[in-house]
Amino acid sequence: MKEQSSDSRKKTGLILVAETLDNRVLKISRELTGVISAIAGESAANSCFVACGDDITAQATELAQTTAIPVFAFQGPDLRLPNPEAMADAVCKVAREITPEYICFLHTTCGCHAAALTSVTLDIPCITAVENISHEDSGPLFCRSLFNGTIKMRLAVKSGPAVLTVLPGAFKPSKTTGLPGSGAEATLKTTSQRDTGFTPVDVAMGQGGDAALEHADIIVAAGRGIGDRENLAVVEELASLLPNATVAASRPLCDINWMPYSRQVGATGKTVSPRLYIACGISGAQQHVYGMKDSRCIVAINTDPNAAIFSVAHYCVVEDILTFLPLLAEEYKRLKNPG
Ligand SMILES: Cc1cc2nc3c(=O)[nH]c(=O)nc-3n(C[C@H](O)[C@H](O)[C@H](O)COP(=O)(O)OP(=O)(O)OC[C@H]3O[C@@H](n4cnc5c(N)ncnc54)[C@H](O)[C@@H]3O)c2cc1C
Repeated sequence: MKEQSSDSRKKTGLILVAETLDNRVLKISRELTGVISAIAGESAANSCFVACGDDITAQATELAQTTAIPVFAFQGPDLRLPNPEAMADAVCKVAREITPEYICFLHTTCGCHAAALTSVTLDIPCITAVENISHEDSGPLFCRSLFNGTIKMRLAVKSGPAVLTVLPGAFKPSKTTGLPGSGAEATLKTTSQRDTGFTPVDVAMGQGGDAALEHADIIVAAGRGIGDRENLAVVEELASLLPNATVAASRPLCDINWMPYSRQVGATGKTVSPRLYIACGISGAQQHVYGMKDSRCIVAINTDPNAAIFSVAHYCVVEDILTFLPLLAEEYKRLKNPG
């Protein structure tokens, strides 16, 4: 595997599409600067952000100054809340002006929607859920996971430009952008209301203030393998026995309301690094693994010996959680209270 020459890297221009909410640029958007480093080396030349809002100037200026990357700030009546269709319109306008090599969205609900629309509108390819980028002589290769991380696939773009969606948590914000005094500025562009599509009406914030995961030494996390809601009792029982332990979940369990979102671990949930993480019936999809891979010790229990979670686990238990967890709890009680 060879590095691309620095000369060819400098020519690469990227449009990074920032996610905004209520005229705030979400922190996660800064991870996109890491994609510049991964594709184009240290040079951010020819790259820019696109950010949308109905009063976005101050935030766009701050983004330009702190990343040293120019920002096209689109301001319009329908843009206070995430609006993928209007976002795609804005991105296509910029793409027609600067003909970038890549257009990078975050792999979020809004980002995926806008990426698909941009890809179709500009008639260019779209590579989704990119989690890593390597280089061959021919150019960058984009890696993504299939079947919950059991298969990795690398893709090359035949000819640019291309749209990418990038997994949250996969790229760290670049340290080499953010040079103070770079002179990067925000350029304001106003847009009118779209006649078609939809209007985001409101958003409801999840309940904050649950810091249990951040403070726990041990996390017992349940995944879809738990089967039924009442089976969560075996996970809760184990957590109640272990010192400073609490329960967490993979996203599907939060989506069906079996566990609050404040307990979701993963790229779009919390990032945790407890002393012990016990993954119960969790397949090991990249989006989950990004949130727990830095745990000091990982124990995974799964009936599937090929589950991807075993590739990050220190201890792999191929067993039914409903058989194993009660036995583990009993054994722990016996050891704590001998006789
Ligand atoms: C934009 C985006 C963001 C996302 N963000 C997150 C995120 O932040 N966090 C997150 O977790 N996911 C996230 N996801 C979802 C993610 O891709 C996976 O779908 C999810 O992590 C899978 O959850 P799971 O492992 O619980 O379920 P599954 O993938 O269905 O796995 C269940 C596992 O349980 C095992 N099993 C079944 N029965 C038993 C049993 N009786 N005993 C033991 N093992 C058993 C199976 O072998 C399987 O491996 C995101 C997805 C997208 C598209």
